[in-house]
Amino acid sequence: MSNLPIQEIKDRLDIVEVVGSYIKLQKTGQNYRALCPFHSEKKPSFFVSPARQIFKCFGCGASGDIFKFIMLIEGVEFGDALRILARRAGVELKPYRPELKTKRSRMYEICELSCRFFEKQLEESSVGKRAKEYLLKRGVTEESIKKWRLGYAPNTWQGLSDFLVGKGYKRGEVVEAGLAIESEKSQMPYDRFRGRIIFPIFDLNSQVVGFAGRVFEKVQNEEEIAKYINIPNTLLYDKSRVLYGLNFAKMKIREKDACILTEGYMDVILAHQAGFENTVATSGTALTPYQLKILKRYTNNLLTAFDMDVAGDMATKRGIDLAQKEDFNVKVITMPKESDPADIIAQNPKTWASLINKAKEIMNFYFESALSAFDKESPEGKKEIAKLLLPKIKVISNKILQSHWIQKLAEALKVSQEAIAEELKKIIPKSEEISPEPQVSPPAPKTRKEILEEKVVSLIFNSPQCLNYLEKEDLEVFSPQIKTILTCFKKEMPTNSQAIDKLIKKLEKESEEMKNLLLTLSLRAEIEKEPEPEKEMRICLKSLKEIATQNALNQLSKEIQIAEVAGDEKKVKNLIQKFNRLAKILTGFQKNAKNKI
Ligand SMILES: [Zn+2]
Repeated sequence: MSNLPIQEIKDRLDIVEVVGSYIKLQKTGQNYRALCPFHSEKKPSFFVSPARQIFKCFGCGASGDIFKFIMLIEGVEFGDALRILARRAGVELKPYRPELKTKRSRMYEICELSCRFFEKQLEESSVGKRAKEYLLKRGVTEESIKKWRLGYAPNTWQGLSDFLVGKGYKRGEVVEAGLAIESEKSQMPYDRFRGRIIFPIFDLNSQVVGFAGRVFEKVQNEEEIAKYINIPNTLLYDKSRVLYGLNFAKMKIREKDACILTEGYMDVILAHQAGFENTVATSGTALTPYQLKILKRYTNNLLTAFDMDVAGDMATKRGIDLAQKEDFNVKVITMPKESDPADIIAQNPKTWASLINKAKEIMNFYFESALSAFDKESPEGKKEIAKLLLPKIKVISNKILQSHWIQKLAEALKVSQEAIAEELKKIIPKSEEISPEPQVSPPAPKTRKEILEEKVVSLIFNSPQCLNYLEKEDLEVFSPQIKTILTCFKKEMPTNSQAIDKLIKKLEKESEEMKNLLLTLSLRAEIEKEPEPEKEMRICLKSLKEIATQNALNQLSKEIQIAEVAGDEKKVKNLIQKFNRLAKILTGFQKNAKNKI
């Protein structure tokens, strides 16, 4: 893979920007820190170093360059990460590199080609032009049609499939990409989208991964036809994870520290067009835990423009409950009945802006709607109001907030807070079915030995005088790579940071692995400065020797057992002597440790 433009891509992209487009980074000194996206933590131990162009989590050990980051966060192979970043960097990858032709990349190609096919149909076919007129009439501009790559699927059975077969793809692959359906009657799969306006669905990097199709005029022989259809889940598209428009909205969401959630593709397109660029849509599903997790990277504040009737058990509300549980601040944009954001914006964007400004905090919204739906003076009304509101109060995870709303409800119904609290206990929260997270191959946790070894190196990087405590025979307790580093340092005895940098540069040439290790060790040294490095050094070395002795003892006791089974008495005696000597040394360590305390 030596002819791949890896370096060119690295030169053009800044890791801070790449990582920053996925998670919130905070500047700390020369570096950036964040909550690790690869393991769950409360205090940030994930660092990004612009100087070294690497990331490193000191909690779970995940580390690497931009390619590694994309592989982990997108859950893709190297070839896919390369393609994503090449695209981002504007670096062209030569086609037909067999090593990059993963199944995924063929799926991406099919989606991209289909998208172009649909776009062309919208511009050039006669029915396509009618579809375009419909879009323009609904208020979508020419510019938006281009930006969102809207298209038209001709009303034929194999139009798209034949086009893709002509480009060298198999019909089975078109089915796998969700664009064709296996036929029971004939051998030939047929196109999923026929006679529909097409909305391509993008991933975070603006690559087409899926499609939705909307009817815009009556289709013959099919009276009762779904207004919208989506492709099923595929290798690239999972509707529980995708948020429509997030590729264009993500930076604005961070900038405005708020995200407007809608239900429709048209809502998103018209909202962006009118300057509400922090708008996204769920693609025909309720908000899922995955979507919330993605949104959490950008903001804590959600504004929903859903159909939010307080009565009735709707999927959308379950999503909102979930968001509250995840500690999002949720506000509700209340719209006039029977209207959606797209219509409101098309009529007058200012109306939409004022509705956003008037968005109600979710609990206030629930209270107002429940209290206006029933008579709060009658016993029956009180019961109904409580029935609606108690589950909402139940999901609030913050106890202070929860108690605030218990008090509010008690006041509104003129009953005691105790009665409300008592009723609240009876509510059993609905458990959400959350399928397990996809594995992003979590790195194995570091052993204590590894942690101590790295610490020793980081201490020396910061304070070279620590080298004086490192004896030649101590080198034996370190693992091979660290030993190589320390041997080199011990030989050269650098005294200042320039000399250290020179040594690091020299060692980096040994291997790619060594280079990566040195990068993360340097970053670590930069982040953790010890007030008493020499004392710390002594403690680390002692602990390492202790671990080495303990390991040697374990090994010896195994050998003794084997020798005993073999009946080799002389060997057993020898080994036991050795064992006792080592055990004495170990007790010495432990005694010293106790004396210190
Ligand atoms: Zn981590």
